[in-house]
Amino acid sequence: LSDRLSGVFDRLTKQGSLSDEDVKTALREVRVALLEADVSLPVARDFVKAVQDKATGQAVTRSITPGQQVVKIVHDELVHVLAGDTEEPGKLRIDNPPAPILMVGLQGSGKTTTTAKLAKRLKDREGKKVLMASLDVNRPAAMEQLQILGTQIGVDTLPIVKGEDPVTIAKRAKTQASMGGYDVYMLDTAGRLHIDQELIAQAAAVRDVANPRETLLVVDGLTGQDAVNVATEFDDKIGVSGVVLTRMDGDGRGGAALSMRAVTGKPIKFVGLGEKMDALETFEPDRIAGRILGMGDIVALVEKAQETIEAEQAEKMMKRFQKGRFNMNDLKMQLEQMLKMGGMEGLMGMMPGMGKMAKQMEGAGFDDGILRRQIALIQSMTKLERANPQILQASRKKRIAKGAGLEVSELNKLLKMHRQMADMMKKMGKGGMLKQAMKGMF
Ligand code: GDP
Ligand code: MG
Repeated sequence: LSDRLSGVFDRLTKQGSLSDEDVKTALREVRVALLEADVSLPVARDFVKAVQDKATGQAVTRSITPGQQVVKIVHDELVHVLAGDTEEPGKLRIDNPPAPILMVGLQGSGKTTTTAKLAKRLKDREGKKVLMASLDVNRPAAMEQLQILGTQIGVDTLPIVKGEDPVTIAKRAKTQASMGGYDVYMLDTAGRLHIDQELIAQAAAVRDVANPRETLLVVDGLTGQDAVNVATEFDDKIGVSGVVLTRMDGDGRGGAALSMRAVTGKPIKFVGLGEKMDALETFEPDRIAGRILGMGDIVALVEKAQETIEAEQAEKMMKRFQKGRFNMNDLKMQLEQMLKMGGMEGLMGMMPGMGKMAKQMEGAGFDDGILRRQIALIQSMTKLERANPQILQASRKKRIAKGAGLEVSELNKLLKMHRQMADMMKKMGKGGMLKQAMKGMF
């Protein structure tokens, strides 16, 4: 992919903002890259369309080519789709012990292995007492397989009783988990090579007696497009709360992750990265996105260029402040920066011990709303007024406040704050303290 893309990108060396043509040319190749990574066709098509709308007209960072910029935009969108916005990866709803976790999936997808890996993780990292039970009455030695893994990782398994059906085993596991004081009990079900009615009916019957808190679908990450059909079917018939992608240690590009996420909307919680018992990791959208696109170095390059430019802007701003120049445009930038960093609460929450103070300030009415109103007031000023706030007399103040839909008294408060900040910057600039303070800010 990189070779193909770099050819296209060499032709796109014009600077400025991304034109329709730049974006289209780059995205044609991105689409091919996605298909090569096993992303399903409709998903790739929708994805490219979404990126196209976002990318056109965006400014191109200095020292970066338009093509490189598009790659970064594509990468960010990939991460966005993969991450979704609901659940935290790696977190399971397992309060209220004993919490049942149902493991479902096709035969050979890695259910039994993942059950043991996950049990070990819950034991080691969260100190949970876990019971595992195999409901696989179809495959010979399937139950023994789980038992052996249990011994290996030091997690209890439900004693094997030959001749029981899956529903009976599930009931027994529930009883044993309650009586034995377990935090979690995991039900490892049987799979088939393909989805059939019997498999679904069996899994549904188990679900009905166990009432699982989490139903994790285990999918072979190398199966690509097929994985999406499997996921859709299981979700429709059984209801899935999360996905585990196995065999991500293989050389597949991981496109299944994107398709599955886009089509089913189910969170990918973990990825399997090998046969060993500790080869299970929290799903990281960033890593998978890099793998699907295969252009990590371009993404890093663009990030670096963007950082450099931000640092240059900060440096310039500091020089101005040191000379005692701090006008309304500067104040607006500061206010916007604060909003971007999560407003007052976000900003102070980052500093140890300040969370409480942020709450108090919020209680006193100092919240994001104030930041937004202050920005609106500055926006309502003319260019001349922003550069020279000292010229603001009564009539100008009235006009500005009206333009922002606010009272003159709010504008006066803003002006007072600006004067105080400008004074402080001047003083600090003389003593070299400003440099120290700004270092922490950027
Ligand atoms: P089940 O039929 O769904 O229970 O699948 P198993 O758990 O028995 O796994 C089938 C095979 O896949 C076993 O040989 C596992 O060791 C292997 N396996 C499972 N997960 C992974 C993984 O993440 N990476 C690799 N390389 N192999 C895996
Ligand atoms: Mg199994």
